[in-house]
Parts: sequence; C-alpha cells; structure tokens
Amino acid sequence: ARARFVADNPASRAAHERAVAHLPGGNTRTTLFYEPFPLTMAHADGCLLTDLDGHTYVDLLGDYTAGLYGHSNPVIRRAVESALDNGWNHGAHGTDEARLAAVLCERVPSMELVRFTNSGTEANLLALATATTHTGRGTVLVFTGAYHGSVLSFGSGAFPLNVPHRFVVAEYNDIADTAAAIDRHADDLAAILVEPMLGSGGCLPADPAFLAYLRARADETGALLVFDEVMTSRMAGGGMQELLGITPDLTTLGKYTGGGMTFGAFGGRADVMAMYDPRRPGHLAHAGTFNNNVLSMAAGYAGLTELFPPSAARELFDRGERLRARLNAVAGGRMTWTGMGSMLTVHFGPGPVTGPRDLRPAPAHRELFHLDMLARGFHLARRGMIALSLAVTDHECDAFTAAVDGFLSELPDR
Ligand code: PMP
Repeated sequence: ARARFVADNPASRAAHERAVAHLPGGNTRTTLFYEPFPLTMAHADGCLLTDLDGHTYVDLLGDYTAGLYGHSNPVIRRAVESALDNGWNHGAHGTDEARLAAVLCERVPSMELVRFTNSGTEANLLALATATTHTGRGTVLVFTGAYHGSVLSFGSGAFPLNVPHRFVVAEYNDIADTAAAIDRHADDLAAILVEPMLGSGGCLPADPAFLAYLRARADETGALLVFDEVMTSRMAGGGMQELLGITPDLTTLGKYTGGGMTFGAFGGRADVMAMYDPRRPGHLAHAGTFNNNVLSMAAGYAGLTELFPPSAARELFDRGERLRARLNAVAGGRMTWTGMGSMLTVHFGPGPVTGPRDLRPAPAHRELFHLDMLARGFHLARRGMIALSLAVTDHECDAFTAAVDGFLSELPDR
C-alpha cells in the first residue's frame, strides 16, 4: 500500500521534500503529518479535495470539525468578500463582533457574555485564567485523553509546559477516580475543564451521569465547570450542553464557529465574565490584535445565521448517527465506530469503547486503512476520525460505507 501511495503521488512527494528544508518535518500542524509523506492539496470545493497530483477525494475529515460549511461555501465567500470591501486591520471596534456575540449568547445556554480569541487553544487558556482569577485558586482538574489545545494536551500522559496552573488528571468517565481527585484538591480547585465528548481522544462521549457529577461537585467546591465545546458545539444549536441539559459556568468554542476562519471564544456567567469589562476599575486586560478580525467575525455570523440554524444542526446530527450505525453494522466487530452525531472515530477490534482505558494500541492495519481509504478516494484523519461537513450527503455516506465494507472483505481474517 505504501509503495503504491509513493508511486501515485510524485507532486505531493516533491512538495514535502521542498518543505522539510524550512519547516521541521515539512510540517507546521502536527495532526496533518503522516508517513511516508502527507498529500498536499491544491483545491477544494463542496465536499471534494484535489491534490497536487490531480486526484480528487471526498473530504470526510472536514478539517477536524472546522470545515463544517464545506469548501468554498458561497455564503461564507460572500461574507468574507464584503468584509474585505470595507478594509481590514481597522484597529477599532467593528459591527460584526457584537452580532456574532448576540447569536452565540442566544443559542448556547451557559453563555451570557462572550469574548473572542484567535484559536481554541487560546480560548481554553483564557477560560482557565478566568477561573483562577475568579476563584483565587490554582488547581485545574482535567481528564485522561483530553485535548484542549497544543499546550493543553493530556492524551499522552505528558504535562504541558509554561502554563501557570497546577493540573490534576483524573480518568475520563470514571466517577470514582474523579471523586478521589476532587476530594484531594477541593480547597484549591479553580476549574474542572472537560470535553463533553473526547474529540481527539477518540470520539468518546461522556456519560451524562459523569458530567452531572462534575456539575454537582463544582457547585459544592466552588470550582468553575468549563465545557470545552470547541468541537462538540455542532451537536445542536446550543451545543452538547443543550442536548444534555447540563449548563457549565464557562464554555469555550472554536473551529467552524468562525466560519472556517481562525477563531476561538470563551464565555459564560455574566458575573464571572464581567471581570473583562474595561469600564470597571481593576478589570482584567484581554488584548489580542486579531480578537475581532473582520474576516472571522463576518464569516462566523453569516455561517451561524444563514447556514447553520438549529434545524441544520439536527439534520447533520441525524446523518452522522445513521452513518455510524451502518458502519458498525458492516464492521461486524472487526472495527468499532464511536462518536456522536457528525463526529466519528474508528477503533480496531470489538467494542465497547467507552473511555480512554478501552483504547488499545493501534494495529498495523490502521495505517493500511488510511492509505486504502485514500486509494478509494476518501480523505479522513490518519487516526480514523471523521467530521461530516454540510456538503457531505447521504450519497457520499453510502459510498464510504461500501468502501469500508470493501476494505474489510479484503483484510485477511486472523
Ligand atoms: N479543544 C478541543 C476539544 C479541540 O479539539 C481543539 C483542536 N483540535 C482545541 C481545543 C484547540 O483549538 P485550536 O486548534 O483552534 O487551537
């Protein structure tokens, strides 16, 4: 499979060889790298990606959820073009940031006030700074398998560098382990930071009882409960918190919410977020040259209001649920597709896979699966993640299910 990949992709290979001279490994976004070299894309439209060698792929990765609107969406394009017509780098307030904030606060149950950032990573760092400042405490509880940004990754067991908080890591979806961690640190607990579904950690939804437990313990200890909905906000108009009926104190957003432009947001309780109100004496500074950059503000507002009303969120959720059920049916226990709604990840072997403890080291055929799917014309994450965009229809879902079936029927039984 590798030899065929190398032979089929000479232009991507040459691009990689040029890039390694000035970028470490030829790469500036770690999750996009794979061996023997990653494909370099030249063009994208709707649900299709075309690489430098002229091959076209159905894009099922959807830029790890940031590509919700599909490629070159005309509504987003129009919003960006009309923003460009009025100039950028104003160095001043614009009109779109207040409109975007209004839509988010209307839809997301926890969000009474919101501020914008340049990335989900930054949104989470600021949410934690907000919690430590609000509580006057220094400890943050996080969970195994969590990914909150490149300096806030808890999947590998490594601690992030240069972050002014003390992190305590408990087992995701494990109430007993979490209870022990909270009991040990209750007096100094500033925040409990959690993804309502582990995204990068394998599309593993939280048990609602686990999240309800976190809500109760946050109330009891005075810590702020922070939902990282950078990926999961697409599950409903008001995010996963709306589906679950569990309201955190703070929420972070990112990815598609900026219309596919660079974006992050953190917000929540008005009494907490008020610390950023510059009219107040002793307010906290949250500067950031690009916090209200006109392209993200305009694209974000157009996307949410014209393309992704709550009804569209429900439709997308249902399409993903149908796809996951069909993939599990053809997998017959040789693969387990986990996830929720439009986000899915494949795990090799039989389930159930309900927490990071159930994850086994990826077998050799995970690489084979990725290369085989590319050869069959489907682009997904090397680690087997899918995030459907609005441009993917039932037709592409049918074709992908057939491709997975084809892969499995050619895989030697063991
Ligand atoms: N939180 C979650 C749940 C994420 O999946 C990601 C990105 N994959 C981030 C935060 C970080 O966002 P960004 O890449 O925009 O910094």
